[in-house]
Amino acid sequence: MRQSQLFTKTRKDISAEEVSKNAQLLTRAGFIYKEMAGAYAYLPLGLRVIEKIKQVVREEMESVGGQEMLMTALQRKEVWETTNRWDDEVVDVWFKSELKNGTEVGFGWSHEEPITEMMKHYIHSYRDLPIFVYQFQTKLRNELRAKSGIMRGREFLMKDMYSYCIDEAQHQAFYAATIEAYLRVFARVGLKDQTFVTYASGGAFTEFSHEFQTITEAGEDKIFINKEKNIAINEEVLSEETLKELGVSRDELTEVKTAEVGNIFNFGRKKCEEMGLNFVDSEGTSLPVFLGSYGIGISRLMGTIVEVYHDEKGIIWPKEIAPFQVHLISLNQDERAEALYTELTAAGIEVLFDDRDMRAGAKFADSDLIGLPLRIVMSNKTIEQDAVEIKLRAQDECQLVLLKELTKEKIETLLS
Ligand code: ATP
Ligand code: MG
Repeated sequence: MRQSQLFTKTRKDISAEEVSKNAQLLTRAGFIYKEMAGAYAYLPLGLRVIEKIKQVVREEMESVGGQEMLMTALQRKEVWETTNRWDDEVVDVWFKSELKNGTEVGFGWSHEEPITEMMKHYIHSYRDLPIFVYQFQTKLRNELRAKSGIMRGREFLMKDMYSYCIDEAQHQAFYAATIEAYLRVFARVGLKDQTFVTYASGGAFTEFSHEFQTITEAGEDKIFINKEKNIAINEEVLSEETLKELGVSRDELTEVKTAEVGNIFNFGRKKCEEMGLNFVDSEGTSLPVFLGSYGIGISRLMGTIVEVYHDEKGIIWPKEIAPFQVHLISLNQDERAEALYTELTAAGIEVLFDDRDMRAGAKFADSDLIGLPLRIVMSNKTIEQDAVEIKLRAQDECQLVLLKELTKEKIETLLS
């Protein structure tokens, strides 16, 4: 991509009311545009990051047997009434509207009920199970506060997966495999050391649900961790009883602020019982299906990554989800920079090529703000030596590399 052609440019004029670091940086760098509080547009650079995160999540969900699909955003009132979750007193984030004929509809804030209703048409016997499906979808929630940039939206992107199983054993096997898949997701996007599987409230037949919490000051949650024992407990379930059960004492735990980037939840047979989703087992007995649900906040994850990976100059994207791998900066409009851009792109490297006629200082400032992992600078000075100057965004040192040594392998080594 040529930066001279790129929509957008970096911005200086960002609204003073934008208090969160993630939204400030992403707006200035041209990744997102704020439509209103809690609703952001994803511009070309931002969308590339979203798509990269989705691809990591997709690969890991497929690795445990998930199949991708897409439910509707418009939802029926009757479906939610069966579990008493249409009521605004029960669910306080509903956006609702009506059809021309007066029929009430809701905008999907979650999909457990509609998908379970749908499954009645596809699940009849134990032979139809298990089923593991997932989607990436824009959820709409009338959140009371939306001050954390893309980490808490009124419109946001979620990956939600659902498992329908015959019994607890089948459910547990998938649940355990999904915990591992989630940990691979968070490791691949650069948050391995910051993210903890955390005991939290909820769960229909177990005492706890599991959240995936990432340490960041920008988070809204508080958890208590012990890294050696690999234990993390959400403050909402921190009690003498919990500590005893998990074999840890209060003074072994450190309090940290975190963002919930994902959670997994089991409903046991309860939800399917309420909704009448039954199957006939191998003995001919009719039973409600065993349900699990598994969320990852895709846009919150992107915001969290920016909160964790930035400095005073801008964003520092982890390699796997950077919109481009290389920022090639030409300072003297030289043909050799054009040739290098063509060559690297042909080799399959994702390059943002700063071919603009601008001061070096402004180009470097933009480059630091946008935050691509590897910067390659070509100037009259480097060309004299048949070389380019190379710098990792995450490090301070530059090095001179001869052009003839700048192979795809060399770049991959530098990035790894
Ligand atoms: P929270 O406690 O933060 O409101 P939640 O318990 O409502 O989250 P779920 O309904 O289980 O979350 O949604 C699954 C995932 O979607 C969450 O783990 C989180 O990463 C993300 N998420 C939830 N609400 C929002 C939001 N308003 N904006 C962005 N991401 C969200
Ligand atoms: Mg919520």
